[in-house]
Amino acid sequence: MNVQLHDTRALTADGANRAARITVARGDGIGPEIMKASLRVLQAAGARLDIEEVELGEKVYLAGHSAGIEPGSWDSLRRTRVFYKAPITTPQGGGFKSLNVTVRKTLGLYANVRPCASYAPAIATRHPGMDVVIVRENEEDLYAGIEHRQTDDVYQCLKLISRPGCEKIVRYAFDYARAHGRKKVTCFTKDNIMKLTDGLFHKVFDEVAAEYPDIANEHWIVDIGAAKLADSPEAFDVVVMPNLYGDILSDVAAQITGSVGLGASANIGEHVAMFEAIHGSAPRHAGMDTANPSGLLLAGVMMMVHVGQPEVAERVHNAWLRTVEEGLHTKDIFREGASRERLGTQAFADAVIARLGQMPQVLRPVSYVGNPPVPARAPSPRKPTEKVLVGVDVFVHSTQGVDALAAKMQGAANGRYELSMITNRGVKVWPGGLPETFCTDHWRCRFLAKGGAQFNKPMVLELLGRVHHAGVDFIKTEHLYSFDGVPGYSLGQGQ
Ligand code: NAD
Repeated sequence: MNVQLHDTRALTADGANRAARITVARGDGIGPEIMKASLRVLQAAGARLDIEEVELGEKVYLAGHSAGIEPGSWDSLRRTRVFYKAPITTPQGGGFKSLNVTVRKTLGLYANVRPCASYAPAIATRHPGMDVVIVRENEEDLYAGIEHRQTDDVYQCLKLISRPGCEKIVRYAFDYARAHGRKKVTCFTKDNIMKLTDGLFHKVFDEVAAEYPDIANEHWIVDIGAAKLADSPEAFDVVVMPNLYGDILSDVAAQITGSVGLGASANIGEHVAMFEAIHGSAPRHAGMDTANPSGLLLAGVMMMVHVGQPEVAERVHNAWLRTVEEGLHTKDIFREGASRERLGTQAFADAVIARLGQMPQVLRPVSYVGNPPVPARAPSPRKPTEKVLVGVDVFVHSTQGVDALAAKMQGAANGRYELSMITNRGVKVWPGGLPETFCTDHWRCRFLAKGGAQFNKPMVLELLGRVHHAGVDFIKTEHLYSFDGVPGYSLGQGQ
Protein backbone atom coordinates (compact mmCIF):
# COMPACT_ATOMS: atom_id res chain seq x y z
CA MET A 1 0.00 0.00 0.00
CA ASN A 2 1.18 3.45 -0.79
CA VAL A 3 0.85 5.72 2.24
CA GLN A 4 1.59 9.33 2.97
CA LEU A 5 3.44 9.92 6.20
CA HIS A 6 2.89 12.67 8.72
CA ASP A 7 5.19 12.77 11.75
CA THR A 8 3.14 14.80 14.24
CA ARG A 9 6.19 15.02 16.52
CA ALA A 10 7.95 17.20 14.02
CA LEU A 11 5.03 19.60 14.22
CA THR A 12 5.32 20.02 17.96
CA ALA A 13 9.01 19.93 18.78
CA ASP A 14 11.77 19.85 16.27
CA GLY A 15 14.84 20.81 18.24
CA ALA A 16 16.50 19.56 21.40
CA ASN A 17 15.98 22.83 23.27
CA ARG A 18 12.74 23.98 21.79
CA ALA A 19 9.74 23.93 24.11
CA ALA A 20 6.73 21.92 23.00
CA ARG A 21 3.54 23.97 22.90
CA ILE A 22 0.72 22.18 24.65
CA THR A 23 -2.82 23.00 25.68
CA VAL A 24 -3.69 22.09 29.27
CA ALA A 25 -7.16 21.72 30.79
CA ARG A 26 -7.24 21.25 34.57
CA GLY A 27 -10.76 19.79 34.49
CA ASP A 28 -13.18 19.16 37.38
CA GLY A 29 -13.26 17.24 40.64
CA ILE A 30 -9.79 15.84 41.36
CA GLY A 31 -8.60 17.17 37.97
CA PRO A 32 -6.88 20.38 39.19
CA GLU A 33 -4.99 18.51 41.96
CA ILE A 34 -3.71 15.69 39.78
CA MET A 35 -2.83 18.10 36.94
CA LYS A 36 -0.84 20.27 39.36
CA ALA A 37 1.01 17.19 40.67
CA SER A 38 1.69 15.83 37.17
CA LEU A 39 2.96 19.11 35.73
CA ARG A 40 5.24 19.57 38.77
CA VAL A 41 6.83 16.16 38.14
CA LEU A 42 7.19 16.71 34.38
CA GLN A 43 8.77 20.12 34.85
CA ALA A 44 11.12 18.88 37.59
CA ALA A 45 12.25 16.20 35.13
CA GLY A 46 13.23 18.90 32.62
CA ALA A 47 10.16 18.93 30.38
CA ARG A 48 10.34 21.88 27.99
CA LEU A 49 6.71 22.93 27.77
CA ASP A 50 5.09 26.11 26.55
CA ILE A 51 1.63 25.86 28.12
CA GLU A 52 -1.67 27.41 27.04
CA GLU A 53 -4.56 26.78 29.41
CA VAL A 54 -8.21 26.33 28.45
CA GLU A 55 -11.33 26.01 30.59
CA LEU A 56 -13.39 22.92 29.95
CA GLY A 57 -16.01 20.74 31.61
CA GLU A 58 -18.78 21.32 34.11
CA LYS A 59 -18.63 25.14 34.26
CA VAL A 60 -18.53 25.38 30.49
CA TYR A 61 -21.45 22.95 30.11
CA LEU A 62 -23.50 24.91 32.63
CA ALA A 63 -22.67 28.19 30.84
CA GLY A 64 -24.62 26.80 27.88
CA HIS A 65 -21.99 25.08 25.72
CA SER A 66 -23.59 21.66 25.16
CA ALA A 67 -20.30 19.84 24.50
CA GLY A 68 -18.45 21.31 27.52
CA ILE A 69 -15.92 23.24 25.43
CA GLU A 70 -15.84 26.96 24.54
CA PRO A 71 -15.51 27.81 20.84
CA GLY A 72 -12.18 29.62 21.49
CA SER A 73 -10.57 26.47 22.92
CA TRP A 74 -10.51 24.88 19.47
CA ASP A 75 -8.11 27.63 18.34
CA SER A 76 -5.66 26.69 21.08
CA LEU A 77 -5.89 22.98 20.24
CA ARG A 78 -5.34 23.64 16.55
CA ARG A 79 -2.39 25.91 17.39
CA THR A 80 -0.55 23.63 19.83
CA ARG A 81 -1.76 20.28 18.44
CA VAL A 82 -1.14 18.63 21.79
CA PHE A 83 -3.79 18.43 24.51
CA TYR A 84 -3.04 17.40 28.10
CA LYS A 85 -6.44 16.97 29.66
CA ALA A 86 -7.53 16.30 33.23
CA PRO A 87 -10.86 14.49 33.76
CA ILE A 88 -14.04 16.50 33.69
CA THR A 89 -17.49 16.10 35.22
CA THR A 90 -20.39 15.64 32.83
CA PRO A 91 -23.44 17.29 34.45
CA GLN A 92 -26.41 14.99 35.12
CA GLY A 93 -29.47 15.35 32.92
CA GLY A 94 -30.16 15.40 29.22
CA GLY A 95 -28.84 17.75 26.56
CA PHE A 96 -25.13 17.43 27.40
CA LYS A 97 -22.94 15.86 24.73
CA SER A 98 -19.85 13.84 25.58
CA LEU A 99 -16.87 16.18 25.51
CA ASN A 100 -14.48 13.32 24.81
CA VAL A 101 -16.42 12.04 21.82
CA THR A 102 -16.73 15.61 20.47
CA VAL A 103 -13.00 16.30 20.83
CA ARG A 104 -11.96 12.91 19.39
CA LYS A 105 -14.21 13.15 16.36
CA THR A 106 -13.81 16.87 15.65
CA LEU A 107 -10.02 16.63 15.70
CA GLY A 108 -9.83 13.23 13.98
CA LEU A 109 -8.16 11.45 16.92
CA TYR A 110 -8.55 8.01 15.39
CA ALA A 111 -6.26 5.94 17.61
CA ASN A 112 -6.91 5.39 21.30
CA VAL A 113 -3.84 3.80 22.87
CA ARG A 114 -3.98 2.34 26.39
CA PRO A 115 -0.98 0.59 27.88
CA CYS A 116 -2.20 -1.85 30.59
CA ALA A 117 0.71 -3.19 32.62
CA SER A 118 0.68 -4.74 36.05
CA TYR A 119 3.22 -3.65 38.67
CA ALA A 120 3.54 -6.78 40.78
CA PRO A 121 4.72 -7.21 43.45
CA ALA A 122 4.36 -3.46 44.20
CA ILE A 123 0.63 -3.46 43.37
CA ALA A 124 -1.47 -6.57 43.99
CA THR A 125 -2.85 -8.23 40.84
CA ARG A 126 -3.85 -11.73 39.76
CA HIS A 127 -1.89 -11.15 36.54
CA PRO A 128 1.70 -10.25 37.45
CA GLY A 129 3.04 -10.86 33.93
CA MET A 130 0.57 -8.58 32.17
CA ASP A 131 1.88 -5.96 29.74
CA VAL A 132 -0.76 -5.33 27.07
CA VAL A 133 -1.38 -2.29 24.89
CA ILE A 134 -4.95 -1.90 23.64
CA VAL A 135 -5.23 0.08 20.40
CA ARG A 136 -8.88 1.04 19.91
CA GLU A 137 -10.38 2.58 16.80
CA ASN A 138 -11.84 5.84 18.02
CA GLU A 139 -14.02 7.42 15.33
CA GLU A 140 -16.46 4.98 13.77
CA ASP A 141 -18.36 1.72 14.40
CA LEU A 142 -21.58 2.12 16.44
CA TYR A 143 -20.15 5.36 17.86
CA ALA A 144 -21.25 7.28 14.77
CA GLY A 145 -24.36 7.66 16.93
CA ILE A 146 -26.74 7.39 13.97
CA GLU A 147 -29.87 5.95 15.55
CA HIS A 148 -33.51 5.80 14.48
CA ARG A 149 -36.72 4.41 15.82
CA GLN A 150 -38.34 2.78 12.81
CA THR A 151 -41.48 1.04 14.04
CA ASP A 152 -43.41 0.66 17.30
CA ASP A 153 -41.15 -2.26 18.18
CA VAL A 154 -37.79 -1.62 16.60
CA TYR A 155 -34.92 0.84 17.07
CA GLN A 156 -31.77 0.88 14.97
CA CYS A 157 -28.14 2.00 15.45
CA LEU A 158 -25.98 2.10 12.34
CA LYS A 159 -22.59 0.43 12.52
CA LEU A 160 -20.29 2.18 10.06
CA ILE A 161 -16.86 0.73 9.31
CA SER A 162 -14.70 2.27 6.59
CA ARG A 163 -11.66 0.96 4.78
CA PRO A 164 -9.59 4.11 5.52
CA GLY A 165 -10.68 3.90 9.18
CA CYS A 166 -9.56 0.26 9.43
CA GLU A 167 -6.34 0.89 7.60
CA LYS A 168 -5.31 3.86 9.75
CA ILE A 169 -5.89 2.06 13.06
CA VAL A 170 -4.38 -1.27 12.05
CA ARG A 171 -1.31 0.40 10.61
CA TYR A 172 -0.99 2.51 13.75
CA ALA A 173 -1.03 -0.69 15.87
CA PHE A 174 1.78 -2.25 13.82
CA ASP A 175 3.82 0.99 13.75
CA TYR A 176 3.34 1.29 17.53
CA ALA A 177 4.50 -2.31 18.02
CA ARG A 178 7.58 -1.71 15.91
CA ALA A 179 8.47 1.59 17.64
CA HIS A 180 8.11 0.05 21.10
CA GLY A 181 9.91 -3.21 20.40
CA ARG A 182 6.76 -5.29 20.76
CA LYS A 183 6.53 -8.69 19.11
CA LYS A 184 2.91 -9.41 18.26
CA VAL A 185 -0.30 -7.65 17.18
CA THR A 186 -3.63 -9.39 17.80
CA CYS A 187 -6.90 -8.38 16.16
CA PHE A 188 -10.34 -8.93 17.76
CA THR A 189 -13.50 -8.87 15.63
CA LYS A 190 -16.85 -10.61 15.37
CA ASP A 191 -16.57 -11.34 11.66
CA ASN A 192 -18.22 -14.75 11.92
CA ILE A 193 -21.47 -12.76 12.34
CA MET A 194 -20.74 -9.30 10.86
CA LYS A 195 -19.06 -10.53 7.72
CA LEU A 196 -19.01 -7.21 5.88
CA THR A 197 -18.18 -4.67 8.63
CA ASP A 198 -16.01 -6.68 11.02
CA GLY A 199 -15.00 -8.77 8.00
CA LEU A 200 -13.46 -5.62 6.46
CA PHE A 201 -11.55 -4.86 9.67
CA HIS A 202 -10.14 -8.42 9.69
CA LYS A 203 -9.32 -8.33 5.96
CA VAL A 204 -7.46 -5.02 6.27
CA PHE A 205 -5.65 -6.41 9.34
CA ASP A 206 -4.42 -9.37 7.25
CA GLU A 207 -3.33 -7.06 4.40
CA VAL A 208 -1.43 -4.65 6.66
CA ALA A 209 0.08 -7.48 8.77
CA ALA A 210 1.71 -8.85 5.62
CA GLU A 211 3.74 -5.62 5.40
CA TYR A 212 5.25 -6.20 8.86
CA PRO A 213 6.97 -9.61 8.63
CA ASP A 214 9.03 -8.77 11.74
CA ILE A 215 5.89 -8.69 13.91
CA ALA A 216 3.72 -11.74 14.61
CA ASN A 217 -0.01 -11.40 14.03
CA GLU A 218 -3.14 -13.31 14.97
CA HIS A 219 -6.90 -12.88 14.94
CA TRP A 220 -9.41 -13.91 17.61
CA ILE A 221 -13.21 -13.79 17.56
CA VAL A 222 -13.86 -11.10 20.15
CA ASP A 223 -15.94 -13.17 22.58
CA ILE A 224 -13.38 -15.90 23.17
CA GLY A 225 -10.57 -13.35 22.74
CA ALA A 226 -12.06 -11.23 25.53
CA ALA A 227 -12.34 -14.29 27.78
CA LYS A 228 -8.71 -15.15 27.10
CA LEU A 229 -7.61 -11.53 27.68
CA ALA A 230 -9.37 -11.44 31.06
CA ASP A 231 -8.02 -14.85 32.05
CA SER A 232 -4.47 -14.91 30.60
CA PRO A 233 -3.53 -11.34 29.59
CA GLU A 234 0.15 -12.30 29.48
CA ALA A 235 -0.67 -14.14 26.20
CA PHE A 236 -1.21 -10.76 24.48
CA ASP A 237 1.09 -7.91 23.47
CA VAL A 238 -0.59 -5.25 21.27
CA VAL A 239 -4.32 -5.80 20.61
CA VAL A 240 -6.19 -3.77 17.97
CA MET A 241 -9.97 -3.65 17.66
CA PRO A 242 -12.99 -1.67 16.48
CA ASN A 243 -14.43 1.04 18.70
CA LEU A 244 -17.07 -0.74 20.80
CA TYR A 245 -15.02 -3.84 21.65
CA GLY A 246 -12.05 -1.56 22.39
CA ASP A 247 -14.10 0.65 24.69
CA ILE A 248 -15.20 -2.32 26.78
CA LEU A 249 -12.03 -4.38 26.72
CA SER A 250 -9.64 -1.51 27.43
CA ASP A 251 -11.50 -0.99 30.74
CA VAL A 252 -11.36 -4.73 31.47
CA ALA A 253 -7.64 -4.77 30.71
CA ALA A 254 -6.96 -1.68 32.86
CA GLN A 255 -8.96 -3.11 35.77
CA ILE A 256 -7.14 -6.43 35.89
CA THR A 257 -3.73 -4.76 36.08
CA GLY A 258 -4.70 -4.03 39.69
CA SER A 259 -5.99 -0.45 39.53
CA VAL A 260 -7.92 1.63 37.01
CA GLY A 261 -6.46 4.67 38.81
CA LEU A 262 -3.07 4.03 37.14
CA GLY A 263 -4.37 3.86 33.58
CA ALA A 264 -3.27 6.41 30.97
CA SER A 265 -4.38 6.87 27.40
CA ALA A 266 -3.34 8.69 24.27
CA ASN A 267 -5.76 9.71 21.53
CA ILE A 268 -3.75 10.18 18.36
CA GLY A 269 -4.74 11.86 15.10
CA GLU A 270 -2.95 13.01 11.98
CA HIS A 271 -2.87 16.58 13.27
CA VAL A 272 -3.60 16.64 17.01
CA ALA A 273 -3.07 14.28 19.96
CA MET A 274 -4.76 14.23 23.38
CA PHE A 275 -3.36 12.63 26.56
CA GLU A 276 -5.42 11.83 29.65
CA ALA A 277 -6.00 9.45 32.56
CA ILE A 278 -8.63 6.81 31.92
CA HIS A 279 -10.53 7.48 35.15
CA GLY A 280 -13.08 10.26 35.67
CA SER A 281 -13.16 13.31 37.92
CA ALA A 282 -14.04 11.35 41.13
CA PRO A 283 -15.89 14.39 42.56
CA ARG A 284 -16.25 12.85 46.02
CA HIS A 285 -12.46 12.89 46.41
CA ALA A 286 -12.01 16.48 45.17
CA GLY A 287 -10.00 18.89 47.33
CA MET A 288 -8.89 16.18 49.78
CA ASP A 289 -5.35 15.65 48.47
CA THR A 290 -6.00 11.89 48.35
CA ALA A 291 -6.33 11.27 44.60
CA ASN A 292 -3.73 9.26 42.77
CA PRO A 293 -2.08 11.41 40.06
CA SER A 294 -0.45 8.36 38.38
CA GLY A 295 -2.90 7.92 35.49
CA LEU A 296 -2.50 11.53 34.39
CA LEU A 297 1.25 11.49 35.04
CA LEU A 298 1.70 8.35 32.90
CA ALA A 299 -0.40 10.03 30.20
CA GLY A 300 2.12 12.88 30.50
CA VAL A 301 4.90 10.33 29.91
CA MET A 302 3.21 9.29 26.65
CA MET A 303 2.89 12.98 25.75
CA MET A 304 6.61 13.63 26.32
CA VAL A 305 7.46 10.77 23.94
CA HIS A 306 5.02 12.23 21.42
CA VAL A 307 6.49 15.74 21.55
CA GLY A 308 10.00 14.43 21.02
CA GLN A 309 11.32 14.58 24.60
CA PRO A 310 11.73 10.83 25.27
CA GLU A 311 14.52 11.40 27.79
CA VAL A 312 12.06 13.27 30.00
CA ALA A 313 9.46 10.51 29.58
CA GLU A 314 12.05 7.90 30.57
CA ARG A 315 13.22 9.82 33.67
CA VAL A 316 9.68 10.33 34.91
CA HIS A 317 8.47 6.80 34.22
CA ASN A 318 11.48 5.13 35.86
CA ALA A 319 11.26 7.44 38.91
CA TRP A 320 7.55 6.61 39.16
CA LEU A 321 8.27 2.86 39.00
CA ARG A 322 10.89 3.31 41.74
CA THR A 323 8.43 5.23 43.94
CA VAL A 324 5.70 2.63 43.54
CA GLU A 325 8.02 -0.35 44.13
CA GLU A 326 9.27 1.28 47.34
CA GLY A 327 5.71 1.02 48.63
CA LEU A 328 5.02 4.77 48.59
CA HIS A 329 1.34 4.69 47.67
CA THR A 330 -1.70 6.90 47.51
CA LYS A 331 -4.83 5.82 49.36
CA ASP A 332 -6.39 3.90 46.45
CA ILE A 333 -3.47 1.47 46.09
CA PHE A 334 -2.30 1.46 49.73
CA ARG A 335 -2.42 -2.03 51.29
CA GLU A 336 -1.62 -2.52 54.99
CA GLY A 337 1.42 -4.78 55.21
CA ALA A 338 2.36 -4.49 51.52
CA SER A 339 2.70 -0.70 51.21
CA ARG A 340 5.30 1.28 53.19
CA GLU A 341 3.76 4.74 53.45
CA ARG A 342 0.42 6.33 52.55
CA LEU A 343 0.96 9.62 50.72
CA GLY A 344 -1.31 12.44 49.60
CA THR A 345 -1.45 13.59 45.98
CA GLN A 346 1.23 16.26 46.25
CA ALA A 347 3.47 14.24 48.58
CA PHE A 348 3.36 11.38 46.07
CA ALA A 349 4.46 13.82 43.35
CA ASP A 350 7.29 14.99 45.65
CA ALA A 351 8.36 11.36 46.15
CA VAL A 352 8.56 10.85 42.38
CA ILE A 353 10.50 14.13 41.98
CA ALA A 354 12.95 12.99 44.68
CA ARG A 355 13.63 9.82 42.65
CA LEU A 356 14.19 11.46 39.26
CA GLY A 357 17.35 9.96 37.82
CA GLN A 358 16.89 6.67 39.73
CA MET A 359 15.98 3.33 38.17
CA PRO A 360 13.56 0.77 39.57
CA GLN A 361 15.25 -2.22 41.22
CA VAL A 362 12.41 -4.76 41.14
CA LEU A 363 10.09 -3.58 38.37
CA ARG A 364 11.37 -3.56 34.80
CA PRO A 365 12.79 -0.17 33.78
CA VAL A 366 11.42 1.49 30.66
CA SER A 367 13.39 3.02 27.81
CA TYR A 368 12.05 5.46 25.25
CA VAL A 369 15.21 7.18 23.98
CA GLY A 370 16.13 5.91 20.53
CA ASN A 371 12.68 4.49 19.76
CA PRO A 372 11.49 5.62 16.34
CA PRO A 373 8.42 7.88 16.40
CA VAL A 374 5.06 6.27 15.67
CA PRO A 375 3.96 7.98 12.48
CA ALA A 376 0.33 9.06 12.08
CA ARG A 377 -0.40 8.18 8.48
CA ALA A 378 -2.99 9.12 5.95
CA PRO A 379 -4.76 6.10 4.42
CA SER A 380 -4.04 4.72 0.94
CA PRO A 381 -5.74 6.45 -1.98
CA ARG A 382 -9.23 5.12 -2.69
CA LYS A 383 -9.47 2.46 -5.44
CA PRO A 384 -12.53 3.01 -7.66
CA THR A 385 -14.68 -0.08 -8.20
CA GLU A 386 -17.39 -1.05 -10.66
CA LYS A 387 -20.56 -0.60 -8.62
CA VAL A 388 -23.72 -2.23 -10.01
CA LEU A 389 -27.23 -1.95 -8.55
CA VAL A 390 -28.74 -5.46 -8.45
CA GLY A 391 -31.76 -5.04 -6.17
CA VAL A 392 -33.28 -3.29 -3.20
CA ASP A 393 -34.27 -4.19 0.36
CA VAL A 394 -37.51 -2.45 1.29
CA PHE A 395 -38.07 -2.27 5.07
CA VAL A 396 -41.68 -2.07 6.20
CA HIS A 397 -43.70 -1.52 9.35
CA SER A 398 -46.46 -4.13 9.45
CA THR A 399 -48.47 -6.06 12.01
CA GLN A 400 -50.01 -8.38 9.44
CA GLY A 401 -48.77 -11.96 9.17
CA VAL A 402 -45.90 -12.66 6.80
CA ASP A 403 -48.10 -14.41 4.22
CA ALA A 404 -50.42 -11.39 3.92
CA LEU A 405 -47.39 -9.10 3.61
CA ALA A 406 -45.79 -11.37 0.99
CA ALA A 407 -49.01 -11.34 -1.05
CA LYS A 408 -49.14 -7.52 -1.03
CA MET A 409 -45.46 -7.19 -1.91
CA GLN A 410 -45.77 -9.71 -4.75
CA GLY A 411 -48.72 -7.72 -6.03
CA ALA A 412 -46.59 -4.56 -5.92
CA ALA A 413 -43.81 -6.36 -7.80
CA ASN A 414 -46.32 -6.91 -10.60
CA GLY A 415 -44.25 -9.55 -12.36
CA ARG A 416 -41.45 -7.03 -12.98
CA TYR A 417 -39.47 -7.64 -9.86
CA GLU A 418 -38.80 -10.81 -7.95
CA LEU A 419 -39.59 -10.80 -4.22
CA SER A 420 -36.73 -13.09 -3.21
CA MET A 421 -37.24 -13.20 0.55
CA ILE A 422 -38.70 -11.54 3.63
CA THR A 423 -36.74 -11.46 6.89
CA ASN A 424 -37.63 -10.36 10.40
CA ARG A 425 -34.69 -9.10 12.49
CA GLY A 426 -32.44 -10.71 9.88
CA VAL A 427 -33.97 -14.21 9.92
CA LYS A 428 -35.64 -15.47 6.74
CA VAL A 429 -39.37 -15.97 7.42
CA TRP A 430 -40.62 -16.14 3.82
CA PRO A 431 -40.63 -18.31 1.79
CA GLY A 432 -40.52 -21.36 4.01
CA GLY A 433 -40.45 -19.73 7.46
CA LEU A 434 -41.09 -21.62 10.69
CA PRO A 435 -44.03 -20.78 12.99
CA GLU A 436 -41.64 -20.82 15.99
CA THR A 437 -39.72 -17.72 14.77
CA PHE A 438 -40.72 -14.69 16.83
CA CYS A 439 -41.58 -11.76 14.58
CA THR A 440 -41.65 -8.05 15.38
CA ASP A 441 -43.43 -5.37 13.33
CA HIS A 442 -40.24 -4.66 11.32
CA TRP A 443 -39.75 -6.58 8.06
CA ARG A 444 -37.23 -6.55 5.26
CA CYS A 445 -38.47 -7.45 1.77
CA ARG A 446 -35.72 -8.16 -0.75
CA PHE A 447 -36.46 -7.40 -4.41
CA LEU A 448 -34.25 -8.39 -7.33
CA ALA A 449 -34.78 -7.67 -11.03
CA LYS A 450 -36.49 -10.55 -12.82
CA GLY A 451 -34.19 -12.99 -14.59
CA GLY A 452 -30.97 -11.43 -13.22
CA ALA A 453 -31.48 -8.16 -15.16
CA GLN A 454 -29.92 -4.99 -13.75
CA PHE A 455 -31.79 -2.68 -11.43
CA ASN A 456 -31.69 1.06 -11.71
CA LYS A 457 -32.79 4.01 -9.59
CA PRO A 458 -36.00 4.77 -11.55
CA MET A 459 -37.02 1.11 -10.97
CA VAL A 460 -36.55 1.58 -7.23
CA LEU A 461 -38.75 4.69 -7.30
CA GLU A 462 -41.40 2.91 -9.36
CA LEU A 463 -41.37 -0.09 -7.02
CA LEU A 464 -41.73 2.15 -3.95
CA GLY A 465 -44.69 3.87 -5.62
CA ARG A 466 -46.37 0.46 -6.09
CA VAL A 467 -45.59 -0.60 -2.53
CA HIS A 468 -47.14 2.64 -1.28
CA HIS A 469 -50.27 2.11 -3.41
CA ALA A 470 -50.56 -1.44 -2.08
CA GLY A 471 -51.04 0.16 1.35
CA VAL A 472 -47.73 -1.03 2.78
CA ASP A 473 -45.93 1.35 5.22
CA PHE A 474 -42.37 1.32 3.93
CA ILE A 475 -39.91 2.94 6.33
CA LYS A 476 -36.60 2.78 4.52
CA THR A 477 -34.67 1.13 1.71
CA GLU A 478 -31.16 -0.21 1.34
CA HIS A 479 -29.77 -0.61 -2.14
CA LEU A 480 -28.12 -3.91 -3.04
CA TYR A 481 -24.90 -3.28 -4.94
CA SER A 482 -22.21 -5.53 -6.23
CA PHE A 483 -18.68 -4.09 -6.23
CA ASP A 484 -16.44 -5.55 -8.95
CA GLY A 485 -18.84 -8.49 -9.03
CA VAL A 486 -18.73 -9.12 -5.26
CA PRO A 487 -22.07 -8.72 -3.43
CA GLY A 488 -21.98 -5.74 -1.05
CA TYR A 489 -24.78 -7.11 1.15
CA SER A 490 -25.30 -10.07 3.44
CA LEU A 491 -27.65 -12.99 2.88
CA GLY A 492 -30.66 -13.48 5.15
CA GLN A 493 -29.99 -15.77 8.11
CA GLY A 494 -31.31 -19.17 7.05
CA GLN A 495 -31.22 -18.19 3.35
P1 NAD B 1 -14.48 8.04 38.29
O1 NAD B 1 -13.40 7.34 37.53
O2 NAD B 1 -14.39 9.51 38.35
O3 NAD B 1 -14.49 7.52 39.78
C1 NAD B 1 -14.88 6.22 40.20
C2 NAD B 1 -14.16 5.90 41.50
O4 NAD B 1 -12.82 5.51 41.19
C3 NAD B 1 -14.02 7.07 42.45
O5 NAD B 1 -15.09 7.19 43.33
C4 NAD B 1 -12.74 6.72 43.18
O6 NAD B 1 -13.02 5.85 44.25
C5 NAD B 1 -11.91 6.00 42.16
N1 NAD B 1 -10.91 6.85 41.48
C6 NAD B 1 -10.94 7.28 40.19
N2 NAD B 1 -9.84 7.97 39.91
C7 NAD B 1 -9.10 7.99 41.02
C8 NAD B 1 -7.83 8.55 41.35
N3 NAD B 1 -7.10 9.23 40.45
N4 NAD B 1 -7.37 8.40 42.60
C9 NAD B 1 -8.08 7.71 43.51
N5 NAD B 1 -9.26 7.14 43.27
C10 NAD B 1 -9.77 7.27 42.03
O7 NAD B 1 -15.87 7.56 37.67
P2 NAD B 1 -17.35 8.11 37.92
O8 NAD B 1 -17.56 8.34 39.40
O9 NAD B 1 -18.22 7.17 37.21
O10 NAD B 1 -17.43 9.50 37.16
C11 NAD B 1 -17.28 10.78 37.78
C12 NAD B 1 -17.36 11.86 36.73
O11 NAD B 1 -16.26 11.73 35.83
C13 NAD B 1 -18.62 11.79 35.87
O12 NAD B 1 -19.12 13.09 35.70
C14 NAD B 1 -18.14 11.22 34.56
O13 NAD B 1 -18.93 11.66 33.49
C15 NAD B 1 -16.74 11.78 34.49
N6 NAD B 1 -15.80 11.04 33.64
C16 NAD B 1 -14.91 11.78 32.94
C17 NAD B 1 -13.94 11.16 32.16
C18 NAD B 1 -12.99 12.02 31.39
O14 NAD B 1 -12.99 13.22 31.53
N7 NAD B 1 -12.13 11.43 30.56
C19 NAD B 1 -13.87 9.77 32.12
C20 NAD B 1 -14.78 9.01 32.88
C21 NAD B 1 -15.73 9.67 33.66
